[in-house]
Amino acid sequence: MSSRGRVAKTRAIILRRSDLGEADRLVTLFTEDYGKIRAVAKGVRKPTAKAAGHVELYTLAEVVLSKGRDLYIITQVELLEPFLALQGDLHRIGYASLFAELVDRFAVDEMQIPEAFDLLVNGLNWLSEPGVDLRLVSRYYEMHILNAMGYAPTFFTCAIGGERLQPEDQFYSVIEGGVVCRDHAAGHVNMTALPLPVFKVLRHMMRSEWETIKVLTVGPLIHHDLQRILHNTIIFLLEKRLQSVDFLRRVTELEERNIDPGHPF
Ligand SMILES: [Zn+2]
Repeated sequence: MSSRGRVAKTRAIILRRSDLGEADRLVTLFTEDYGKIRAVAKGVRKPTAKAAGHVELYTLAEVVLSKGRDLYIITQVELLEPFLALQGDLHRIGYASLFAELVDRFAVDEMQIPEAFDLLVNGLNWLSEPGVDLRLVSRYYEMHILNAMGYAPTFFTCAIGGERLQPEDQFYSVIEGGVVCRDHAAGHVNMTALPLPVFKVLRHMMRSEWETIKVLTVGPLIHHDLQRILHNTIIFLLEKRLQSVDFLRRVTELEERNIDPGHPF
């Protein structure tokens, strides 16, 4: 949508919002057709506003947008999926905010990324599933959002030598962008040991549908390594921006407080 005043309808997830003036909201949307955009929702904070409930965070809506001078203007909102299981659940909403923040930080403005849009919608659905391993959903989402944004680490060929990796203990390097074999890791600094069981889960997650992954029982040590590898990769890619690091640290704390001893690890 390029010319001013033009109107378009698209599905969108609300990533972020802030108050604007007395009655308006500034909303960051990840849209199906136009990628990440910022738009003004006018008058939504007035008690009489009809659309007030429909620009809630981490919901899926159909929005009608018109192009203003600087920003888009949301002229209509129809709520399609409120993801009710997320609302009021502190842990689930914490993960939903991580999912949204990753899109917000990796997506370039107004670039359509259909795989990332579908993944975000799916990710919010997966987070809503009763009894789901939230950490596993998060790791799966993180890996595949990196892939959708064009930053997938290499899991099948050596990030230094390019040769096919064997099913054995390996190393991982955020700087090299993926898994490195023992021979090529020798003499390099900043290599993280990657034990075979963790390596296998990473590869399985990379090439499998969520329906296959969600039935896995992943132990706490493997979970710890998966989180460390993926979060270190994300932090590195986001150029160690302080806010992200702090944000991921908060997620880690949230996860560590939530380890349920009754969970069948
Ligand atoms: Zn190698």
